[in-house]
Amino acid sequence: PLTPLESADAGHVKVVVRVRKFIRRELDSKSPCLIEMRPHNNETIIHPPPVTQEDPKGTRRQYEERSFTFDKSFWSHNEKDAHYAQQHDIYASFGEEFLDHNFDGYHTCIFAYGQTGSGKSYTMMGTLDQPGLIPRTCRGLFERIEAEQNSSITYNVHVSYFEIYNEHVKDLLTPRTNPPTYLKIREHKSDGVYVQSLTDEPVKCYEDIERLMKTGDMNRTTACTKMNDTSSRSHAVFTLTLKQIQHDIATDSTIERLARMRLVDLAGSERANRTEATGQRLREGGNINQSLTTLGRVIAALADPKRQRAGRVTGLQNQAKRRAEVVPYRDSVLTWLLKDSLGGNSKTAMVACISPTDYEETLSTLRYADQAK
Ligand code: ADP
Repeated sequence: PLTPLESADAGHVKVVVRVRKFIRRELDSKSPCLIEMRPHNNETIIHPPPVTQEDPKGTRRQYEERSFTFDKSFWSHNEKDAHYAQQHDIYASFGEEFLDHNFDGYHTCIFAYGQTGSGKSYTMMGTLDQPGLIPRTCRGLFERIEAEQNSSITYNVHVSYFEIYNEHVKDLLTPRTNPPTYLKIREHKSDGVYVQSLTDEPVKCYEDIERLMKTGDMNRTTACTKMNDTSSRSHAVFTLTLKQIQHDIATDSTIERLARMRLVDLAGSERANRTEATGQRLREGGNINQSLTTLGRVIAALADPKRQRAGRVTGLQNQAKRRAEVVPYRDSVLTWLLKDSLGGNSKTAMVACISPTDYEETLSTLRYADQAK
């Protein structure tokens, strides 16, 4: 039977960091690895680049060693090391726990944050040989449903996949149109915020989802920037909706329980000026940074119980304070749409993906992750 709802460990945001291996460009330039991780205490240390490295802005003297501690530090840099973290290790660290939570009827949300090329897609989607969090979560979901086949519960699973590009929402499960079709965001009194006319495909097995993931990835917006050819300038939001229906023959009544799993591959966090972007690109950069900043503020507010309480203070004298401190969901399309999946009884995790060689961007990612704890 459906287990009774209990109040979850609300507010806590799990923050992990993952450093990837060298990519071709870094091997060719013989860049040194600036990241050190201490698996015993989950410490991540960033070392200043050696003096020989180019320093066009003359900021080297500000480079210093910094140390951060997260819920987990995943070393995916060198496969030969004993503490090397595989795709499975990332899933095992919160995938299973989050699925438990979904079956208990709560929403979950996992973000991959980091500059372009830091390993976000690898972590979320992965490759055929090395599937990431999204395919592993989908498999885990169906394994559990199959294990429960003889129970009195009926399971319905739906998948949607959309992207947010320049504060516009595009369905990734419908063919691209020219000009692009943007979907409207609506708010329903009881159902909350939703995307109007978004495809929400019913799926019966893992293979159904696999097909949808392929369609979605083909439809994702990518544009060339000087930083990375396949740089993605959009946030991709993959959603699994699990509905559990229990029919009680004795009372002829049904109980329904609904949970959403949001798995989000965020747009690259690099600053617009770094990619020498102009015009359209720059505007995208602005919007991306705006929504990432808002996400950071929302997560920081959720991670800080004082701020959550501040959102509920009453009384005139506290009105100014309340306005200043309430969780700013509405400041970006991303956080507005994900409102139900953030805070309350939802569980949130962030995987901060970092490159082993880029001091400034990596430090900025580590700082962002640090304020989300
Ligand atoms: P992003 O999505 O952040 O732009 P990608 O996931 O595309 O970055 O990663 C950039 C490159 O690095 C890809 O070629 C990817 O296969 C590789 N890569 C990223 N993370 C890892 C990892 N942990 N192990 C092996 N290769 C990785």
